[in-house]
Order: sequence, then C-alpha cells, then structure tokens
Amino acid sequence: MPAPVMHVRPHDGVPLLVPAEAPPWLFLAFTTRGGGFSEGPFASLNLGRSVGDRPDAVRRNRERVLAATGERWHWVAGARQVHGCEVVVASRAAAWPAECPPEADALVTTEPGVLLWATFADCVPVFLWGESDGGSQGKGRGVALAHAGWRGTVAGVAAAAARRLAAELGTGPAALSALIGPSIGPCCYEVDEPVLSALDSAFAWSREVLSPSPRGEPYRHLDLWETNRRVLIDAGLRPENIYVAGLCTACDTERFYSHRASGGRTGRMAGLIGIRPFDA
Ligand SMILES: [Zn+2]
Repeated sequence: MPAPVMHVRPHDGVPLLVPAEAPPWLFLAFTTRGGGFSEGPFASLNLGRSVGDRPDAVRRNRERVLAATGERWHWVAGARQVHGCEVVVASRAAAWPAECPPEADALVTTEPGVLLWATFADCVPVFLWGESDGGSQGKGRGVALAHAGWRGTVAGVAAAAARRLAAELGTGPAALSALIGPSIGPCCYEVDEPVLSALDSAFAWSREVLSPSPRGEPYRHLDLWETNRRVLIDAGLRPENIYVAGLCTACDTERFYSHRASGGRTGRMAGLIGIRPFDA
C-alpha cells in the first residue's frame, strides 16, 4: 500500500491534514470538521461565512485555525470564490480589505508570511508550490491555491494558477509541484448535463475521466482528481510532481463537510498554503 499523501497532525486540539512530505519553507494544510465551535449541520470547525452559521462561531473557528498553524502570518489573503478561472496575486503592498476581496478562484503569492486561504465542501483544492534559482537574489519561492469545482475545472483554473505562479517565479511549470486535496471523489461525484457537454467541449480525453453510474444513463461519475491532474500535466507539470490526496469528502462526512452528501446545508473546510514567515 502506498504511503498516504496527507496525514492528520493535531495542533492545539485542531486536527489539520498536512502533506506527509514538504519542503521546510512550505506551510500547507487542509482543515476537517473537528476542533471548532459551530453546532448543528455546521459542527464544528465551519469556516464558511455565508452558509448560515453564527458569525461569532465562524470568527472563533478561524482564529483557532490560524493559531494552530503555529506561525504568525503577516496577512491572510482570501478571495470571493465565483467558480471561474481568475487568478489574483496577493501582495502586502497591494493588500485588499477583508470585507472587499476580489472575485477570483485562484491566489498566488511569492511573499513569505502571506497565507492564502480558500474554503471548500466537495470542490477540489489544488495546492501549488515551487522555487526558482534567482541567482544573486537567492531562491525565489512561490505558492498558489485554486478552487476547482466542475466549472472551475473545465475553465482550467488549476492551469491558470500554475502558469501565473511559474511566471511570477520566472521558471517553467515543470519546476512546480502540486497537491490535489480532499474533495468529492470519483466514487461519489455523479453528474449529468450540462457537466458532460462542458467536459466534452473542454477536453479531448473527457471520456477517460468518466465512469458508469450505478443509476445508469444519463448519469456518469466524474473523477475531478484525475481531471485536474491532467489539466496540470497539459499545463506543463511533471506527473511525478503531482500528488493526489485521494480523500473523498462525500464518503467521510464524519470528518469532512460535503455539499453533495448533506443536501447543501453544511459548513466549509479551508485550504491554507503559504511561505513560512521566517524573517518575521
Ligand atoms: Zn466518495
């Protein structure tokens, strides 16, 4: 059996899923339902602000997660997620106010101490990181986080994030690594129209990421993990640098929020990635 790509590391009572292997400068984590203050369908570590949960519980949950990272971040950058493929570069010199974030489904930064934050409940978190040899400037480092539901996946948000990160680093995409995080798996993600047509229009290999549904036609199961893996390979990443967590949010509703498995009323996990603020 291959070693798990992500494992749980409890931090101050907050279980965070972290990669089994990562360079020391990289912070990367995905939250679970555990360790928070929310109740009912949002129990307990809900990080979604617009799902109907009590704002004070969400605020306290967020503070707990940030404390559990063990780092003092200069800025936590989040965007208003709209299921598109817009990429925004987060820089402290051009920081946006928390109450007025840009509309984007991918964030990039090359600044240590800037933590990228996006929320998920079935959609695919695509984490990206890389280094460039900046010569006399020393190593340049960068990270990105994309939010890829079926719309973002078809729109190529993971590729857009990879291209932008590579451009910021002055490297090619082959220098990047990626981790496809916990999200709805091929076991549970049933689709029909208009997803199937959109997939066919976007990818020549669309039939290879679909499997039959137990319910028969016109339904199919879609593998968003494999789709995003192929999107990244088509964008120039090396297959050996792409890791798939293989954790299905809809299979494990004790551990994860799942929009699909809950019928819509549920909380959100957060994906977090940043360059640790060594020089704070
Ligand atoms: Zn599943």
